[in-house]
Amino acid sequence: MAERADDRAGRADVSRSAAASVYERIRTMILASEIAPGEKLNIDQLARQLGVSQTPVREAVQRLEGDQLVVARRPRGYATTQLLDEAGLRHMFEVRLLLEPWSARAAAVDRAANPGAAMLREIDRFAAEMHGDPRHLMSAHDTRFHELILRAVGNDFLANAFRQMHPHLHLFRLYPADIDGAHTIAEHERIARAIAAADPDEAEQAMRAHLLAAMERFSAGVDGGAPSLAGVRPGAVRPRTADVG
Ligand SMILES: [Zn+2]
Repeated sequence: MAERADDRAGRADVSRSAAASVYERIRTMILASEIAPGEKLNIDQLARQLGVSQTPVREAVQRLEGDQLVVARRPRGYATTQLLDEAGLRHMFEVRLLLEPWSARAAAVDRAANPGAAMLREIDRFAAEMHGDPRHLMSAHDTRFHELILRAVGNDFLANAFRQMHPHLHLFRLYPADIDGAHTIAEHERIARAIAAADPDEAEQAMRAHLLAAMERFSAGVDGGAPSLAGVRPGAVRPRTADVG
């Protein structure tokens, strides 16, 4: 009796982790543009390709709809969402520039809540694991890094506002595949060191500089090139170059 309950629990764990892995695999395919923006999703074909039944694929597609990577199409079916356009990219960074320099400043406190050491460990871990197409790893690292700051601030409205933008899922679809992450690491290090040193002015400036540089890198993936930001003086954003990493 106890054994059967264990078996059932084991099977439930396996099917839960299988569903999570189907979700991860389809999400990676969308982030890496193996499934193009605006492309119709063929559930049956995806199930065969991943060697699973249609049920976990349907569950994964519903989760991806929550992530705004997939939209329902009328009268039926699903398609991947379009990439952020120039206005979408600009709007996202306008909001991030309001929230995140302030958050970095607020996190740079001389208390146990200071996330600086955890941020430096996160950077070391990311630098050690980078290989191959780095977009998926960079997206995951960038999510963890920015969330360490938001969590340290401890304001649920702020954290929810950030998560509802799904910035990393949208932005990393724009990223060129040949990026090595060196610029991101250098910019993240500057932020983490300023926060670890409980230097709020430098933390705020470092975050602002990172967001402006990141917007420029991501804009390489947007038709029409670099967008201009409201409230940012002309020339503050350097023209985009081939070396966007
Ligand atoms: Zn970042």
